[in-house]
Amino acid sequence: MNLNEIKELLNKYNAGALKKYGQNFLINDNVLKTIANTLKDQFKNVIEIGPGLGSLTRYLVTTYDKVLAFEIDPKMVEILDDTIKEENFRVVEKDILKVNIEQEINNYFDNKEICLIANLPYYITTPIMLKVLEEAPSIKSMVIMIQKEVAERFLGRPNTKDYNSLSVLIQTYMDVSKVIEVSKNSFYPAPEVTSAVIKLTRKEKTNYQIDNEELFLKVNRLMFKQRRKTIVNNLKDIYNKESILDILNKLNISETARSESLSVEQIINFSNELNKIL
Ligand code: SAM
Repeated sequence: MNLNEIKELLNKYNAGALKKYGQNFLINDNVLKTIANTLKDQFKNVIEIGPGLGSLTRYLVTTYDKVLAFEIDPKMVEILDDTIKEENFRVVEKDILKVNIEQEINNYFDNKEICLIANLPYYITTPIMLKVLEEAPSIKSMVIMIQKEVAERFLGRPNTKDYNSLSVLIQTYMDVSKVIEVSKNSFYPAPEVTSAVIKLTRKEKTNYQIDNEELFLKVNRLMFKQRRKTIVNNLKDIYNKESILDILNKLNISETARSESLSVEQIINFSNELNKIL
């Protein structure tokens, strides 16, 4: 939809773009097509989070066999119900953070190879990502629009300012790549930040070996607690210092290394070694 269509729709339904729900509607057709088409050869079923006025949804319903969307704002749901009549579309009026995604998938799709396509509400990007990672194994790939700075964290490489525990977490479980950058004026109203579309594909479990997931998540968090500190200093209050040094030596990592210099694999290996001695 272009800017005029969006404004007309908002007027007609006496609706506004609500800041509290991160409502910035896409008005750039090229961007919409790119988002809708990136996974079209691999998937038939798609989940959309936050369909809003349906700019992206209109492309999804013509590109995929079945589309299931979750929208928190009842006004948007009313507009979608009135304007998108395709039989392969269902919108559920729910907060995505409170949805049992796997159950909804089971109820709606016959096949469990699902992708997620969304122009996400930026205020809850990370909680949504963590929820999908942990609770929705049927979602195999995602193409999402997020704030550019957050995209850079997801893509962050060791020894760069963008690399942190979130980069490690995302890259442990997903392959991540950038699709396009999107300027503020592709939206109405324009957000305060530049955006980016990224693609994430869930890795096969056999591609990484984490012996104790809870410990890995904890170690990853602790390691990056204070970026300026060494790994030893970030961990020594919780784990025995000598053991930490032994593990670093065993893994050929300098005793004075900081976490930002460790690859995702090294952090996984570190947690596996720690698990052996706890
Ligand atoms: N997809 C539309 C587009 O591209 O123009 C709208 C995207 S807008 C950035 C984000 C959408 O997510 C809004 O429609 C908003 O109401 C919805 N939303 C916000 N928080 C949500 C939540 N917790 N659960 C489901 N939808 C949410």
